[in-house]
Amino acid sequence: MHLYLHIPFCRQACHYCDFHFSTSLKAKSEIVQAICHEIFLQKDYLQDKNLETIYFGGGTPSLLEEADFAQIFETIANHFNIKPNAEITLEANPDDLTKQKLQLFKKYNINRLSIGIQSFHEPHLKSLNRIHTSQEAERCVKLSQDIGIQNLTIDLIYAIPAENHLIFELDLQKAIALNTNHISAYCLTIEPKTVFGKWLKQGKIQVIDDDFATKQFDMLVNHLTHHGFEQYEICSFAKNERYSRHNKSYWQQEEYLGIGPSAHSFNLVSRQYNVPNNAKYVKELNQNMVPSEVEILSIEDQVNEYILTGLRSKWGCNIHKINALSNQLFQQQNASALEKQIREGFLMIENDTLLLTYQGKLFADRVASDLFL
Ligand code: SF4
Repeated sequence: MHLYLHIPFCRQACHYCDFHFSTSLKAKSEIVQAICHEIFLQKDYLQDKNLETIYFGGGTPSLLEEADFAQIFETIANHFNIKPNAEITLEANPDDLTKQKLQLFKKYNINRLSIGIQSFHEPHLKSLNRIHTSQEAERCVKLSQDIGIQNLTIDLIYAIPAENHLIFELDLQKAIALNTNHISAYCLTIEPKTVFGKWLKQGKIQVIDDDFATKQFDMLVNHLTHHGFEQYEICSFAKNERYSRHNKSYWQQEEYLGIGPSAHSFNLVSRQYNVPNNAKYVKELNQNMVPSEVEILSIEDQVNEYILTGLRSKWGCNIHKINALSNQLFQQQNASALEKQIREGFLMIENDTLLLTYQGKLFADRVASDLFL
């Protein structure tokens, strides 16, 4: 099974981010305590107690300190068995990655770091309101490698408005030169409840141009594949099959337990959504309750989710699984929609598996929703 822990704190709010976090760290100890209590209360959410992967996401989990890790890992070990080859990932911001912090991660067997770099271009870092500099980003990757954490992924953002594509070209060159075995790159999207969303409404920034974003997606795929990366999911590129095992479990519809405010859990037939509010989260856990809502997934939901997430990755969606999940409804209702997508070059079938074509990857959500039950 897979465990996700949401650490809901950041030093400052990035202008594009709509994840759940607080910039006040006052309640950190309380939240860590509540997270540990939730682990205890949710220990039987799934039958399996063997952890294949643990993922510290957020927020900024690299803000956690030694006492926090000690408490969290002790609680996990009390209720679960962490497999010897488990992948333990932690999302980190460059400004947190000192030698001491990296050694602390090693002490707790955190063996994969996901470093939020986003861009190496200082004006872009400022407009995104990132807290770190480009120099810090490069330094922390080298430091991690020197200390012996080799399983590194860096996050980039593309389609940041600019006069031309040269800045992104330089970002890609710098990212490749860092010699990590994984890179994730996300197209900038402007969410309504963010600073960018507000600026868009006020006319201070423009909607991102589709052609500009498509051009940068092409640059991304071409540069990274040319340098030995495999695009194994729309936004994820790995060398030597160093895939994110945790994220792969989402795309393959495996069960997981999500702990912390705003975290989700999935047990094949339902999803559980924790409250995205730190104070409410702590309050209810202090009363021995998990503050969450449960959504029972209908057959249609299960099929649609499988299509939406499965199509994103190179493992695609197995036709027999879709038909079995839908009691053959998919075949009866959507055969012509499927044929159309194949004819128009967005989808292909290989070994009974539905896969996006290159063109399909540009419109993945639309292609998937056209196949929904
Ligand atoms: S550090 Fe990450 S989680 Fe925090 S505001 Fe920035 S993008 Fe969002």
